[in-house]
Amino acid sequence: MLQTNDKNGQERPWVQIVDVGVANRYSYSDHDEIEINKALLECPELLKGIMKHELAHTTGRYKLKDLWLDLHDGIKKPGYRKFIITHPSTWHQFSPIWFSKQKGIVLDMGSLSNWLILLCAFWVILKLWVRVLI
Ligand SMILES: [Zn+2]
Repeated sequence: MLQTNDKNGQERPWVQIVDVGVANRYSYSDHDEIEINKALLECPELLKGIMKHELAHTTGRYKLKDLWLDLHDGIKKPGYRKFIITHPSTWHQFSPIWFSKQKGIVLDMGSLSNWLILLCAFWVILKLWVRVLI
């Protein structure tokens, strides 16, 4: 793990290099931690954009600001889609819940929110479509 400080000497979250997912930020009582997939180290521009996204997340519980950030900034990074397609180890990033040896059961609120919004949109479209047919 690496701990970084910004140019003002302010403590930044810990960064841990992992084998799966793309990137995640975790908030603990005493520190924040950002996990990034080791394959991102080969894509410095994408890594820079993703780190900027993770650093923009708030500390503590997942907030509305975090949801807004994930909905508007999630997959707009240049090269993000190609990176996902060419690195199957990142695919579990889209699961709202997963298990890791270090963290146990992980509930990804950003992914869960995205799936709920998608399901709600699908449900509304389905209801409208059925109404048009009947
Ligand atoms: Zn995010």
